[in-house]
Amino acid sequence: MNTINANLPPPLNLPPGYLNIMGYVDESQVNGPGARAVVWVQGCLRECPGCFNPGSWSFEENQVVAVPELADKILGNPRNQGVTFSGGEPFWQAPALAQLARLVKAKGLTAMSFTGFTLEELRGSQAPPGAGELLAELDLLIDGPYLEHLAIHSPDSLVSSKNQRVRVFNPALADQLTWASDQLEIHILKDGTRLFTGFRGQLFS
Ligand code: SF4
Repeated sequence: MNTINANLPPPLNLPPGYLNIMGYVDESQVNGPGARAVVWVQGCLRECPGCFNPGSWSFEENQVVAVPELADKILGNPRNQGVTFSGGEPFWQAPALAQLARLVKAKGLTAMSFTGFTLEELRGSQAPPGAGELLAELDLLIDGPYLEHLAIHSPDSLVSSKNQRVRVFNPALADQLTWASDQLEIHILKDGTRLFTGFRGQLFS
C-alpha cells in the first residue's frame, strides 16, 4: 500500500454525473449478499503489493458511463438485489456513486462498497470529495487496504487481509454476511468475452 499517495487528488476529469469504470456484471453471487450487480471503477492510487486488480490502477478513461444509464442497466435486471462498488478505488468517484446508489436504492436495492480507505479516513478531513455523501447511502462497507503480510487465506473470510473490516450500516443485512467470497464466477458477456470475478472483489478477463 502506498499511504503517501493515498490522499492525493486523482487525475479524474469527468463531468458530474459520469463514472469511469473498468467493468460491470449482473447477478454476481460472490461480491456481497444475494445476487448483485457489480461496478468496478477505474483508478486507484495505492498500488498495494498483491493487488487483485492492478489493471484498475490507471485513471485513464476506460468506460465512461452516465449514472442514470448505469442505474437503468442495474434495475433492468430484476434478479439484481443490490449493487456492489469495487475497483479501483470507489471513493475517488464518490459523488457519482452516491447518485447511482440513490437511484437504485429508491427501487428497493441495497448498496455496498469495497474501499482501500479506512472508515476513519473516510470520515476525516482528508477524505476524498463526496465521501460522506457516499457513506450515507451504503448498507455495507468493507474498508481498509489490502495488506499482503496480513493476507487471510480462508474460504470463510469476507475480507482479504486481517486489517480490513466489514461495516454493517443496515441492520437488515446483518444476518446476510454469508456470500461465497472464496469462489470464482465466470460471466460470458454478449460479445463473447469471458469475465472472472470472485475472491473478494477481484476482476479479470
Ligand atoms: S488492493 Fe484495492 S486499494 Fe489496493 S491497489 Fe488494489 S484496487 Fe487499490
